Amino acid sequence: RAKADGPGSYRFYTAALNTQLAERFHLEQSLRRALERDEMLLYFQPRRDLRTGRIVSLEALLRWRHPREGLILPGRFIPVAESTGLILDLGPMVLEKACRQLQDWRARGVPTVPVAINLSTQELYTEDLPRHIQQRVQAADLPPELLEFEITESTAMRSMEEAIHILGRLNKMGFTLSVDDFGTGYASMSYLSNLPVQGLKIDQSFVAQISDPRHEAGADATIVKAIIGLGHNLGLNVIAEGVENESQRRFLLRQGCTLGQGFMFDRPRPAGEIEAQLRIGAAHRPAPSSCPEDRS
Ligand code: C2E
Ligand code: MG
Ligand code: MG
Ligand code: MG
Repeated sequence: RAKADGPGSYRFYTAALNTQLAERFHLEQSLRRALERDEMLLYFQPRRDLRTGRIVSLEALLRWRHPREGLILPGRFIPVAESTGLILDLGPMVLEKACRQLQDWRARGVPTVPVAINLSTQELYTEDLPRHIQQRVQAADLPPELLEFEITESTAMRSMEEAIHILGRLNKMGFTLSVDDFGTGYASMSYLSNLPVQGLKIDQSFVAQISDPRHEAGADATIVKAIIGLGHNLGLNVIAEGVENESQRRFLLRQGCTLGQGFMFDRPRPAGEIEAQLRIGAAHRPAPSSCPEDRS
């Protein structure tokens, strides 16, 4: 393409590439500093029983509290962390923070629910990941049932045989496992049935398409129905991601999907605010949150 643009374009192309590389390098440096200065923290988003509103578990979602830029979302730094190998520092830190949070809640008598942690592709295939996880969880004196791990379909497909082996080990240790962003990674049904997982999360891009009741017969609603059916037929818990409104909630329930997380119920929140919710008890559903995620 650079060639077709004429003889001068190569220079622009390299200039753009250099800018990109410089930005990436800059981000990598500040990410390293952020780790040293402990600017990373976990937010939590509840997963709820779509019938009762009861909190069944939490997903830990990483945030970077940048001293000048404020709260930075993982979409901006996880890819860089992945490509630079920094994820191998971030990953264990996330597990550490999640374990400490659970330990702290338990010590203070806060009613706890399982916490799900996202594992990146690089992390999953790290030398002896299951043993490291087990050691960390045991050190925090937590039962393995309190921890879940989410891997995306594409992570599992990177090396299916290995993934089956690693997930199998985590399973034997008592951890719950889910396939995240399901429907986006082109995994075949037979692959899914081979994975030792207990849960499947419908990607939010599909859920987003069912907000309008007139679209229920549309392609994405059909995909959502198919995923729910597939998951249940394989004996998996099916969780809908990105539930934003009442018509989506009702549609999911009609299709037999009883678990969901989304802005309709909660924005991801810092531990302190989640604690209040856990204390109130999962018995009743709070009013859908109206204030946007705190970006201070
Ligand atoms: P994910 O694991 O699929 O997490 C769900 C994302 O959807 C979160 O974005 C969450 O804030 C957002 N979300 C939840 N409900 C709704 C909704 O109703 N509507 C919309 N539009 N979005 C909703 P977030 O926190 O920005 O995280 C993005 C991704 O970054 C995650 O996707 C996950 O892949 C990755 N990530 C987050 N934390 C970690 C971590 O600790 N480690 C690793 N390896 N990846 C992480
Ligand atoms: Mg996830
Ligand atoms: Mg997801
Ligand atoms: Mg996602």
